[in-house]
Amino acid sequence: MGVERFSLKISARLDGVARMEPGFEDTEFPYWLKFKCTAEGCRLEHSKWIPLFVGSKVALQCNDCSRRGTLGLASGCFGVPYVGGESTLAVVECCGFEPIAYQFDMGWKIVGTNGIEYPNTSLSTGGFSLDDIGVSVKNLEWKLVKLNW
Ligand SMILES: [Zn+2]
Repeated sequence: MGVERFSLKISARLDGVARMEPGFEDTEFPYWLKFKCTAEGCRLEHSKWIPLFVGSKVALQCNDCSRRGTLGLASGCFGVPYVGGESTLAVVECCGFEPIAYQFDMGWKIVGTNGIEYPNTSLSTGGFSLDDIGVSVKNLEWKLVKLNW
């Protein structure tokens, strides 16, 4: 059972937003993910959201087959500011499990094209909007793509 890596890619429609940055301090910014067991004949999807933080590994045991594994973020591949299109936010590194879902949460810094910063913004409702000044983040999406390195 080897280490597998998955690119967490995000996309959004930005209006009046120059970029959005994950976290003020990367080490405190949680990447909330769900995982499934990769053991043959098990493949249980765990319902619990698990926060991953830069620089720390999480141990997980499958409720069904009792397999033990680890989850974490690949060093050097996280906290990438989002400026548009589809881009990699972080690379998830796991052993015995694979990520199946990502949830946007709080801690984002939104930087407007007007230079105004909105720190510690929550994207948990699927976006961010200040309609009166035309600043918004909409159509938030994520995907997880298996990497071959
Ligand atoms: Zn299992």
